[in-house]
Amino acid sequence: MNSKKINVLAIFSHPDDLSIFCSGTLAKWAEEGHNIFALCCTNGNLGTLRTDLTKEDVAKMREKELKEANKILGIKKTILLDYPDGGFIPRQELREKLIYFIRKLRADRVMTFDPWVPYEVHPDHVIVGRMASEAGAFAAFPLLYSEQVKDDINPYSCSEVWFMGLLGHSPNCFVNISSTIEKKVEAALKFEATLTLLARFFAPDIDPANVSPEELKKLSKYANRLLRSIASTIGKKANIKAAEAFYTQKVLPGHFDNFLELMNEMLGNPSETPKIY
Ligand SMILES: [Zn+2]
Repeated sequence: MNSKKINVLAIFSHPDDLSIFCSGTLAKWAEEGHNIFALCCTNGNLGTLRTDLTKEDVAKMREKELKEANKILGIKKTILLDYPDGGFIPRQELREKLIYFIRKLRADRVMTFDPWVPYEVHPDHVIVGRMASEAGAFAAFPLLYSEQVKDDINPYSCSEVWFMGLLGHSPNCFVNISSTIEKKVEAALKFEATLTLLARFFAPDIDPANVSPEELKKLSKYANRLLRSIASTIGKKANIKAAEAFYTQKVLPGHFDNFLELMNEMLGNPSETPKIY
């Protein structure tokens, strides 16, 4: 990023999303002096396979983990919208709230999920990515939700939307996170419920509904290795040690500024070479 300080708003669905998908980049920008804000749309209250916990227990546990993780990453403020986990977010109500926060925080850059990624089954990822994209593109219109506009809240032209994690388009930007990979791993390992959910993925001998402290340590070791290996696999594409990949879009009011790019791709002409930060 250049030396002008900007406001970044990461809009995600569940408490652990941000640490996994873009925390190396956010920590790097925070170190460079940019203002990083995090907005978590749901309380993640389904995020366990344990049967001895209530939804309230899980939400409370994950909120604590999120705040600890965001402290490590240097995030200035964490906003919790507290929708229930698992596909219960009213789309337009969410969009209105996201526009409010883009205006209030004067967010120049929104980071979120790519709602156009194929085979994404989690409705919270699809809806949040889509509504965050729309909010980024529509926050500038003064006649939209005009009742929000007062005192320090004005229509605001967000400049860019960055899609994180698995992408529906090949990345057009890589961020070198070699200097912040330690922070990323430390933050991501704060999420105990996520670690237990991952048991099915890399430790089938461990019962995710009943993980002992010893097994949790083992899962933590596996997750540590997995996060580093993802960062280095992405990094190889850009000749750097550790990276996160994004598909970024410049915002015009009401649209992305992607007409020429998409038309060229439609005609079979290759996209630009990805940028490396
Ligand atoms: Zn999620």
